[in-house]
Amino acid sequence: MPKQINGQKKGSVIPNDLSDSFEEVKAFLSDEDTLHLFDDLTKVNPVTTTTVLKCLQARYAGNVFYTNAGCSLVTVNPFQPISSLYSPELMKEYHAALRPQELKPHVFAVAEQTYRNVQSQIEPVNQSIIVSGESGAGKTWTSRCLMKFYATVAASTTSPKGNEMVERIERRVLDSNPVMEAFGNACTLRNNNSSRFGKYIQLQLNRSQHLTSASIQTFLLEKTRVAYQAPCERNFHIFYQITKGATKKERAEWKLHKGANFFWLPNPEKDLEEDCFGVTRDAMFHLGIDCSTQNNIFKVLAGLLHLGNIQFSSSIDESQPCEPEDDAKGFVKTTADLLKMSAEELLETLRIRTITAGKQQQVFKKPCSRSDCETRRDCLAKVIYAKLFDWLVSVINESIYADSSTWGNFIGLLDVYGFESFPENNLEQLCINYANEKLQQHFVAHYLKAQQEEYAAEGLEWSFINYQDNQSCLDLIEGSPVSIFSLLNEECRLNRSSNVSLFQTRIEKTLSDNECISRDKFSKKPNFIISHYAGKVCYQVEGMVEKNKDPIPPELIQLLQTSQDSLLQTLFPRTEESQNHVKTQNRAAIVTVVSKFKGSLERLMQILNSTTPHYIRCIKPNADCKAMTFKKEEVLCQLEACGIVETITISAAGFPIRLSFQSFTERYEVLRKSRTSNKNTGRADENGLSPAKKKKALLDIAAAILLFLLPFAHFSVGVFFQRNK
Ligand code: ADP
Ligand code: MG
Repeated sequence: MPKQINGQKKGSVIPNDLSDSFEEVKAFLSDEDTLHLFDDLTKVNPVTTTTVLKCLQARYAGNVFYTNAGCSLVTVNPFQPISSLYSPELMKEYHAALRPQELKPHVFAVAEQTYRNVQSQIEPVNQSIIVSGESGAGKTWTSRCLMKFYATVAASTTSPKGNEMVERIERRVLDSNPVMEAFGNACTLRNNNSSRFGKYIQLQLNRSQHLTSASIQTFLLEKTRVAYQAPCERNFHIFYQITKGATKKERAEWKLHKGANFFWLPNPEKDLEEDCFGVTRDAMFHLGIDCSTQNNIFKVLAGLLHLGNIQFSSSIDESQPCEPEDDAKGFVKTTADLLKMSAEELLETLRIRTITAGKQQQVFKKPCSRSDCETRRDCLAKVIYAKLFDWLVSVINESIYADSSTWGNFIGLLDVYGFESFPENNLEQLCINYANEKLQQHFVAHYLKAQQEEYAAEGLEWSFINYQDNQSCLDLIEGSPVSIFSLLNEECRLNRSSNVSLFQTRIEKTLSDNECISRDKFSKKPNFIISHYAGKVCYQVEGMVEKNKDPIPPELIQLLQTSQDSLLQTLFPRTEESQNHVKTQNRAAIVTVVSKFKGSLERLMQILNSTTPHYIRCIKPNADCKAMTFKKEEVLCQLEACGIVETITISAAGFPIRLSFQSFTERYEVLRKSRTSNKNTGRADENGLSPAKKKKALLDIAAAILLFLLPFAHFSVGVFFQRNK
């Protein structure tokens, strides 16, 4: 076991003078054999960010997109379809392999290993695959690949729900993707098909390892996108799908006439693959959403587009409500028609606030300012869309769920947004980056820390590697008694959302002891900087408390409850509970966005902690999503952000293969016996040997195997042997 992890080891060294030019890099590792010597980044020597980067670059140039990095798999997005890489034949090859991890690194190898782990029944039997990376790196693509793999190798043998007319469970699980992507993905500056929500899907396997049930949990849908799209970005795909794909009859019914302009439908001219309405409809149908319900959904969505065209002009007399602009009056009518509600009530709700006050609960009406009217309009759209999305997820869940008596163990796939840092960051980025901190902590705890502690416990010589522990950053964000989250919640409770500088002062005063917080003193806007494990991010304070409160005026819910539309009636039922909610919304403690998010993330972490984790790190090789383009600076930032070098270093320094003593002796029984009888060195069994002797026996056996394999694979043996000297 080596003591020095950064010391030079002989063997496979990427030369330092390796040129930056793509052609030369390609030439260096151009032939197949050389390329595959570096299937695992732990073989790169010395392990530095630069050598790892060069290795990935060379492999990328040679059309190799997957590389192992100790316990993780690194993928570099080719940004072009490579069908042979995902063929059913290849899937079968990995599934049939004696040792899939010994084949070329691939997402199928991780999938198959995970699948076998479930079979092995070694604790924890349940598995999770955590796919991470920045937007556009390939997380969703990878998750889809994994789902396809399991839908193929774990296909159930029984008829679905005893009815041949119903699609098989595997089909339905796969069909959840186009539906969720149509409603939850959008074209952004970073990715034409960017997921605007996080997703955790749990695939239940029965005792025969067949897929019998599944469930999907989503996180933080970016609902603001319905009513606001940043320049050059688009709304959720589904809006474009309905406007482009509706039939003549549907167009008339949904009032989506050709050439109509909608404020909430920017950049419709972009022709994206994701605009395919037929695929979404078929998938919805397979999931049990019949044509009439589908039509109902699309009609409501068309209603939202019309709602977005209602613009208000400022009222000269503040005691009078704002009027919709001339050409917007028609949109009030069409919105109300499509949402099956009264146009007068819709307009009144958008422009007049109802305030209940005093002991007698007196009701006052107050006209809203123009900007308040627009906020209420946007809020109406957001609340409908978010409810619709949650309802769709629950319908999908019902469709892919089978009763728990069929369950054995599960494999969970996590696809959540990667670390974000923009010129302006607010509550959304804070939540996303907080989630990434949590996942990084999980990774550190499960891998880096656990592995080193295991070596220490086994008495192996080992110098500890410093890895970045992000506990203090997490304390800063979510800790108790005070943290950014607790201060945000308190401001919401005290209803002080407009006092931005007070909030900033409180953050500075109360949290200044934490080394992870600072402030951009040159910025005129109130802000705070958090030093995340992946880098520093400056957050704007303005609007943060309001976003955390995410207030929904009770009148909006009451309005929706008057709708005659059956879908809206399902989404906003007139139950006693909801009536009470409306009444008490102003007074009762509000469940803030960060509290809700923290709660759902904690539940997720509990599940992840109870499973055997596998990590796939997706790398985006260039910001422009260009095919086969590798920008070193961009990759470098991502490698640093995910702490890949520390991971490789620890993996490279540690034993590359870890087997329990029992499995090892079982596997190499023959060799052990022959050695024992030849040299008569005593019994190397579990009961009889001290740890030191046990280790020696293992090394003896390993040496024998290596000598035997030497003529066949001199290179890899060299590396292995080196490590075990
Ligand atoms: P993320 O979910 O990380 O934001 P996606 O999975 O949506 O990123 O990938 C972005 C785009 O990159 C996809 O739409 C696809 O065009 C391309 N892509 C990702 N992974 C692959 C791959 N393995 N092969 C080919 N293209 C890919
Ligand atoms: Mg995605």
